Amino acid sequence: MSETKYIFVTGGVVSSLGKGLTAAALGTLLENRGLKVAIQKFDPYLNVDPGTMSPFQHGEVYVLDDGAETDLDLGHYERFTHTKLSRFNNLTSGQVYQAVLEKERRGEYLGKTVQVIPHVTDMIQERIQEVARITEADVVITEIGGTTGDIEGLPFLEAIREFALDVGYNNAIFVHVTYVPYIKAAGELKTKPTQQSVAKLREIGIAPHILVCRTEKPLCKELREKMSLFCNVPYNAVIEEKDVDHSIYEVPLMLQREKMDSLVCDLLRLDVPPADMKDWQEIIRKLIAPQHRVRIGVVGKYIGLNDAYKSVYEAIIHGGVANDCGVAIEKIDAEDIDSEHPEKSLKGLSGILVPGGFGERGTEGKIAAARYARENNIPYLGLCLGMQIATIEFARNVLSLEKAHSLEFDKETPHPVIWLMEDQKKVEDKGGTMRLGSQDCYLKPGSLAARLYDAEVIKERHRHRFEFNNTYRDQFEKAGLSISGTTAENKLVEMVEIPGHPFYIACQFHPEFHSKPNKPHPLFTGFIAACMVEPEKEKAGKPSKEMED
Ligand code: GLN
Repeated sequence: MSETKYIFVTGGVVSSLGKGLTAAALGTLLENRGLKVAIQKFDPYLNVDPGTMSPFQHGEVYVLDDGAETDLDLGHYERFTHTKLSRFNNLTSGQVYQAVLEKERRGEYLGKTVQVIPHVTDMIQERIQEVARITEADVVITEIGGTTGDIEGLPFLEAIREFALDVGYNNAIFVHVTYVPYIKAAGELKTKPTQQSVAKLREIGIAPHILVCRTEKPLCKELREKMSLFCNVPYNAVIEEKDVDHSIYEVPLMLQREKMDSLVCDLLRLDVPPADMKDWQEIIRKLIAPQHRVRIGVVGKYIGLNDAYKSVYEAIIHGGVANDCGVAIEKIDAEDIDSEHPEKSLKGLSGILVPGGFGERGTEGKIAAARYARENNIPYLGLCLGMQIATIEFARNVLSLEKAHSLEFDKETPHPVIWLMEDQKKVEDKGGTMRLGSQDCYLKPGSLAARLYDAEVIKERHRHRFEFNNTYRDQFEKAGLSISGTTAENKLVEMVEIPGHPFYIACQFHPEFHSKPNKPHPLFTGFIAACMVEPEKEKAGKPSKEMED
């Protein structure tokens, strides 16, 4: 294919519509038609990246191989497609303005007044071209964060309008994801918000080619006709995207049933065969009607917010798919755990997972959960902070190092089993200064880790400041906490495990960022498999509905 094609995905009416999911699902369909797809996200906020935002503000920070801290929608892109992502795939207003201002200081605009149009909008357009160039994709899908009508999103909309004009008809299309609310009192779906948000787009010169309507109920013919007429899109370009029944992985199939991918290909003059979705259908089968069931407790601090542990929940589900096992995810607030009686919150779980996190709140509950898993032979998987928690727990209760802690949580601890490395002590800026991105980890031959990965060296993504304190290494190993993964030359501890326990393993990195429904991560696959042989299996619950967005 000679010319790159561009799809711009905007959102209307409300946020959290699942624009990212829609973009990713369209990516799945186009890939399965044999096209090379790249996906990127534009975020209108002024933070340079989401790394400095609280999960309550922004949900999970998704880390890429190159160490970029990005929006969680990039997680959807990686899970739904084979697209290779780098820091170029997430652009924020903060980055754009930073780059424009640096250029101004270097004198590169000398003599000119630096303005939103054309300087900011040009910078945005350069990024679209850059992603096309780096990825050599047939189709570049660009998702614009925020909602149409937001002041801060305007430069991005102007930039894509100009870009589409430049590349010409049949080379760029606009997909508008909108909300069609159901008004219970009237017993009706309402199209007015969609009409108004499309009007807002048209006001700035963007006429959407396709409307993707997020809705609780099916759209009838009359509603489709109405939206077609008032929003100026053909009838077959009104696409229904109903709330999923079981899993977000149904979305590509739903869009395929609505013939969205053939419409996209027609509009972009892409002559490609239909998408073969057989493998994807098998994944859905396993999600809807699994042979087995388990109940996994995720013990964390941001439990109230689904998006905060997005990739972790997804990876657990993938581990379930690998084992033909439905997973009921029990979200347990670490602060609710009674350290003396953790069984009150944890009894009957098939497995316990402690994910990553920052800050002291909830640590005692997480430590109690790790202890409960260790002492009761319940499978345990610790991710990043979850490894640090397992280490602290083992130090306190097996090595009898009372008050052992991480320096992050207790600056005065007599036993800082988790501490800062020299290079981190000097760090003052918070943004982008953690140990970030993909790094090699060497696995101990014969360990559970080596068996699960079936490899000697692996690559996993990091996002943390604190490290296992090597001065305690021998003490831990002698007492039975085996170090099964390290960085090169045995320098930093990357994985710990307890031989003899049915499944007790924890890692300093974030394996959840490498899991896909069609390529479940070995640590999660092994974890769920171990949970399935847990004796209290019959207490398992129903498969998860957590994945509905
Ligand atoms: N707060 C811990 C650290 O900075 C763990 C980080 C994480 O879990 N991502 O090392």
